[in-house]
Amino acid sequence: MENLTIAEANQGLKDGKFTSVELTQAYLEKAKADDLNSYISVTEEMALEQAKTADSKGDFTTPLTGIPMNLKDLVCVKGTQTTAGSKILKGFKPAYTADFAERLLNTGAVLLGKTNTDEFAMGGSNETSAYGPVKNPWDKERVPGGSSGGPAASVAADQAVYAIGSDTGGSIRQPASFCSTVGLKVTYGRVPRHGVTAYASSFDTIGPITKTVEDAAMVLNTIAGKSDKDSTTPDVDVPDYTKALNKDIKGIKVGVPKEFFAEGVEEETKKIVEAGIETLKALGAEVKEVSLPLTKYAIPAYYILVKSEASTNMARYDGVKYGHTTDDAKELLEIYMKSRGEGFGDEVKRAIMLGTYTLSAGYFDAYYLKAAKVRNLIKQEYEKMFEEVDVLATPVSPFPAFKIGEKIDDPVAMYSADILTTPINLAGVPALSVPAGFTEAGLPVGMQLIAKQFAEETLLHVGYAFEQATDFHTKRPS
Ligand code: GLN
Repeated sequence: MENLTIAEANQGLKDGKFTSVELTQAYLEKAKADDLNSYISVTEEMALEQAKTADSKGDFTTPLTGIPMNLKDLVCVKGTQTTAGSKILKGFKPAYTADFAERLLNTGAVLLGKTNTDEFAMGGSNETSAYGPVKNPWDKERVPGGSSGGPAASVAADQAVYAIGSDTGGSIRQPASFCSTVGLKVTYGRVPRHGVTAYASSFDTIGPITKTVEDAAMVLNTIAGKSDKDSTTPDVDVPDYTKALNKDIKGIKVGVPKEFFAEGVEEETKKIVEAGIETLKALGAEVKEVSLPLTKYAIPAYYILVKSEASTNMARYDGVKYGHTTDDAKELLEIYMKSRGEGFGDEVKRAIMLGTYTLSAGYFDAYYLKAAKVRNLIKQEYEKMFEEVDVLATPVSPFPAFKIGEKIDDPVAMYSADILTTPINLAGVPALSVPAGFTEAGLPVGMQLIAKQFAEETLLHVGYAFEQATDFHTKRPS
């Protein structure tokens, strides 16, 4: 029962090889024995209840029914602790469930628990979590990537069949790459954000972390589409994404942007991704080098914009409405100040200070407005690029998983590591990370495929063809 993809688990349930309760129990055991710190909470009772319901209905025609999964702990589930990886939300139990999570639960999905994340999804290593760092299952001295470190590590270590993460500037793709799972960052607005704790509202996206591209398509089928509870979800058709899974990519135009292979990207990573691109070529894709000259502005523009948005999103945590309240205050202002001082970690405080500065009257034009203009130019650069090519193929991260503690005291080094993922969020386009190989030291490396807005089908198509031609996705950490 372990090591299953959604497709396999669904087949097992259909064939009566095991029940959802048995399947859920097996995964609960692994989630509870978690030595990676990937879970913040395990929702055992709820999971068994949901599994029982799935078994009693006995209808497994929709593939997610009865399948155990987890949600990044940013996602609100009614009555279930939702911490966003922060001390300030310790003990907070939301009064409602995120819309996309409701869609999953309505189709009979089984929730094993809530998984670890950088505090309010701010980070790229899962080290800023107030609940401790997550270990990478491929090398426990290394980070799993972030901010969806818990979801990615748990899927790689078979503590869940699949997981849901969020990606504001790389947080699904980068941990997927570091842990050798599939990670899909959708077009902004493709999946409703309602009920997901905000980091930077005009960037945040929700998506699956799975073992295969087929599984990612199955999850997307359920969670994608307009929601009345999220006005940033446009009324764009939701196709059957599993129909996009086709091995034939003859004639597909693949662009290789030279800026994504420039200085700073480690040789081993480049070689692995270049070999991946050769595989696409061998499958009949037309590969050519292209250029995205604005790539170098992505990090400064991204960090000014997200920290600005984050500073306003963090304002609601006042020690009164949710979670942690200081024990040590005599009047209202003191409650706010002490609760926030005690409840927020360093990275969140940095965001509040930086964002308040860039939004202040005297500096707004020089920083926020300028970054917003750069964002627009980057978006246009991608629009133009996709008149020429169907997908772009690049590395996800300039290097594989780094050591726990290696970068945590150097925010600029940590931010710079996002150079290959943040441009995609600035452009609002979708991207997929697929396992593409391993370094000499046995660390996973992902290949990033990028397409135009709402072209998730193209990503799944090319990703699936790549996966069928390779076996990296079948390898598991020991
Ligand atoms: N590391 C990036 C940041 O801190 C991306 C995080 C994310 O995608 N949530 O902003």
